[in-house]
Amino acid sequence: ALDGTRTREWAGHFADSVHATEAELTALDQQAGDGDFGANLAAGVRAAGPLLDEVAASAGPGAYLGALATAFLDEVGGTSGPLFGLLFQAMGRAAGSGPGLTTGALAEGAAEGLAAIRRVGDAAPGDKTLVDALAPAAEALRAAGDAPPADALAAAAAEAWRGVRETASQAARMGRASYLGERATGVPDPGAVGMALFFASAAGTVR
Ligand code: ADP
Ligand code: MG
Ligand code: MG
Repeated sequence: ALDGTRTREWAGHFADSVHATEAELTALDQQAGDGDFGANLAAGVRAAGPLLDEVAASAGPGAYLGALATAFLDEVGGTSGPLFGLLFQAMGRAAGSGPGLTTGALAEGAAEGLAAIRRVGDAAPGDKTLVDALAPAAEALRAAGDAPPADALAAAAAEAWRGVRETASQAARMGRASYLGERATGVPDPGAVGMALFFASAAGTVR
């Protein structure tokens, strides 16, 4: 199982990768949205920093995922902040207060997070949103069964990136990108890229 320290590292890698790609995420949202996605995601991981630092060293994965959830739900504007927050909240809830995150809990959390995001945002697969990265990632986690979390998360990241590539050929039907119609076709969805970064950030952390 994945322990609290590794979950903290995962969150740290996610923050690093968001900061490293903020300009690219902004450029994508300029082509397929309103240009604030990089800033919104960066604001989330920046707000999460102090909350992650406050988590007790002995805490389990659920406490770190809960800190991410609080930051994104409370501090981030835009559509994506609360939607990422719902995923982190569901994953934290599935992790519970135990010392380790199993592949089963990761799968449950991702599935519940996906359901919450779809309830709130009403996007279906194929609408060119972060759902198109999260849905295949959640399915990969489920299909991983009781494989080690490291293997399950590597498969989830690969599936999330596959979903990102598919968004490039989709026309947006939800959110601000939909106002651009066909003009956003050819551009991958920024929110989906951000979602793939989250799963990819677990690689090298979880062993
Ligand atoms: P805003 O559109 O409010 O500026 P952001 O730029 O923060 O929001 O986030 C844009 C991303 O949010 C999109 O790339 C898309 O992945 C995601 N998104 C937008 N609307 C929805 C929705 N209804 N359901 C799921 N994801 C959505
Ligand atoms: Mg935007
Ligand atoms: Mg906006």
